[in-house]
Amino acid sequence: MPGSLRIAIIGGGIGGLTAALALRARGLDVAVFEQAEVLREIGAGVSIYANAARLLKRVRLDDQLEKIGSPISGVTLRTSLGEPITTPSGPATPAFSKGSQGYNVHRADFLNVLFNALPKGTVTLGHRCIQLNQDGGGVRLSFANGAAAEADVVIGADGIHSVVQREIGLQSRPTSEGMMAYRGLIPAERLAWASDLKDPTLWLGSGRSFLLYPVARGRLINMVAFVPTDTDSEESWSAPGELKALAAEYVGWDKPVQDTINALDETFRWGIYDRASLPYWSNGRIALMGDAAHPMVPHVGQGAGQAIEDGFTLAVLLEGCTTGNVADRLTLYETLRLERTRKVQALARAAGKLYRSEHQNPSERAERMREWMAQGKWVFEHDAERAATDALSSLGH
Ligand SMILES: Cc1cc2nc3c(=O)[nH]c(=O)nc-3n(C[C@H](O)[C@H](O)[C@H](O)COP(=O)(O)OP(=O)(O)OC[C@H]3O[C@@H](n4cnc5c(N)ncnc54)[C@H](O)[C@@H]3O)c2cc1C
Repeated sequence: MPGSLRIAIIGGGIGGLTAALALRARGLDVAVFEQAEVLREIGAGVSIYANAARLLKRVRLDDQLEKIGSPISGVTLRTSLGEPITTPSGPATPAFSKGSQGYNVHRADFLNVLFNALPKGTVTLGHRCIQLNQDGGGVRLSFANGAAAEADVVIGADGIHSVVQREIGLQSRPTSEGMMAYRGLIPAERLAWASDLKDPTLWLGSGRSFLLYPVARGRLINMVAFVPTDTDSEESWSAPGELKALAAEYVGWDKPVQDTINALDETFRWGIYDRASLPYWSNGRIALMGDAAHPMVPHVGQGAGQAIEDGFTLAVLLEGCTTGNVADRLTLYETLRLERTRKVQALARAAGKLYRSEHQNPSERAERMREWMAQGKWVFEHDAERAATDALSSLGH
């Protein structure tokens, strides 16, 4: 695309790839640089709620999402012994009303869909960015393999240990939430009741919880088991966990919880860490997105969703942009997205506190869940593209 702005994205995760798709859909010239030599994913699910799914549908990924995703119509909450607290059709889940469809997907399936939707050559693998130098003429990117590239705009989609964050003078420090999660995937045929599990089900016990949801159109069941920890667990997505230790955490819980743990071949440990919101996300021609900009605890399933919103916002704001006004547009992006993601970060923190609270009384818990779900409706109803378009037109563009 001669003459158009050259945009480089550092990081080919969910955030970087969706940003590339959204930017290309508006005719922009994008190159993604990913450090991994091959695209690989751990066996785990990820939620794409309505706020993100509606954006993906606009770049024609609806058929693909239908093919790989398990639709979410609500959440079922149960006590540790299996007594229902809410059901998907109950009043506690207003966010999932008709027309606001989300999906649970296997991370590897989803990344493949995103990668294959981009033209060949858009993503360059094996390129770990180590340094950025910007001047009036653009940004020079240096990679660990000795390669270099030039761009007019650089988007840092390089996750929680972001190099781009450091390059624009920021540093974010992780604080343990005092929780860790065991994760795993189980073939559905191993669980007699799996075909009845259509929506996410969350069992809430004293100080801990247990989440199951189907992915891969119900072929696999995704487990995330949140337990307290007083040691600083590794902040890893893929550290191996012990099945015996996991089982010991859920002695006496509802039968599906026990069945699931018994059916696992392996489990991963995931230390849950929180980080304070960053004071800014952009500097000149460089901006952050996704986990590099707003890492959050996972309790409202919005890590991927907020990254997807960032990408679509950037696409609206960078369309028709020139090298002369790119820094202003990135400042507008920061203004639009910082406030919203700060609110989502705060909601996720509050949800985490509720999930691990010591409340055993189901009706009291149901009431508190109803309160936060009613509060959380704004998360799922937001249209990031429209918000960006409105912001531009309010400035006369
Ligand atoms: C394996 C895994 C499991 C997850 N599970 C959950 C979950 O269960 N629930 C939840 O809420 N969130 C989860 N998350 C987080 C969630 O996926 C993210 O919040 C969301 O996808 C946004 O991610 P991102 O693209 O900003 O960053 P990431 O998904 O972390 O992607 C960053 C990408 O940048 C690449 N990269 C990093 N540094 C460099 C560099 N210097 N140069 C080039 N490339 C670089 C990385 O290899 C990676 O591909 C998980 C993330 C991962 C990676």
